[in-house]
Amino acid sequence: MTTPPPPRHRTTEILPPEEWSGRGRTTESIPPETWGAPPPTGRRRLTPGERTTLTITLAALLAVLAAIALLAGRPRAIQGAMPTWEAIAPPLEQPLAPWRWIVIHHSAGAAGDTQGIDRVHERDNRWDGIGYHFVVGNGRPMPMGGIEATFRWRGQRPGAHAGPGAEQRPYNQAGIGICLVGDYSVTAPDPVQERRTAELCAVLIHQIPTLSLSRIIRHGEVPGKQTACPGMVDTERIRFLARQHLEQRGWTAR
Ligand SMILES: [Zn+2]
Repeated sequence: MTTPPPPRHRTTEILPPEEWSGRGRTTESIPPETWGAPPPTGRRRLTPGERTTLTITLAALLAVLAAIALLAGRPRAIQGAMPTWEAIAPPLEQPLAPWRWIVIHHSAGAAGDTQGIDRVHERDNRWDGIGYHFVVGNGRPMPMGGIEATFRWRGQRPGAHAGPGAEQRPYNQAGIGICLVGDYSVTAPDPVQERRTAELCAVLIHQIPTLSLSRIIRHGEVPGKQTACPGMVDTERIRFLARQHLEQRGWTAR
């Protein structure tokens, strides 16, 4: 009588825990001469062409993910709204002053906002606050082309922006001072900041009969005022854009 061979375990059979070790091993050592051959699992290697395609696909995917991460982490370029009279009108009980000029300035600093200029003018010039009536942002930190009216505009008070001399007094008394944040001694302002400034001029001209396109002037055009302000800000172009804005709305371009 011969001893029957021990029953062979089928691979699906569940082994009792004590037999888990040493039984049913799945790894097999492959003889070195077959290392270069396709693995015995049946998976084939990628052809060089397929590898290139896969590499390109993965690289493209990574580039897209990197771009999304970069855009998500970057502060969005916020732009100011197009100015309307409703947004800038002084309080109803405040009658409009007889404005005769719009005087364009630059802040001559790379960044800034109304509060910052207000502090400087109060501290350094001993004025009762910011000398301008409006400030137009350059995105640092005010939104690009964002417009803020100051206490001088809201109260229809004279400006402190044209200069201290007697010749400049009328331009402080009757000149609306608009300051573009930025140093435009060497470079020109962003087109958005320029356009918003022109739109503001158009709205002011439309509402105030004593103003006109030809009365948009550079600070340096104030009589007796030796200044390069507002640098590369092109008031000729601001007049052109303001005229365009007036005409597009069917307002009188005077
Ligand atoms: Zn100026």
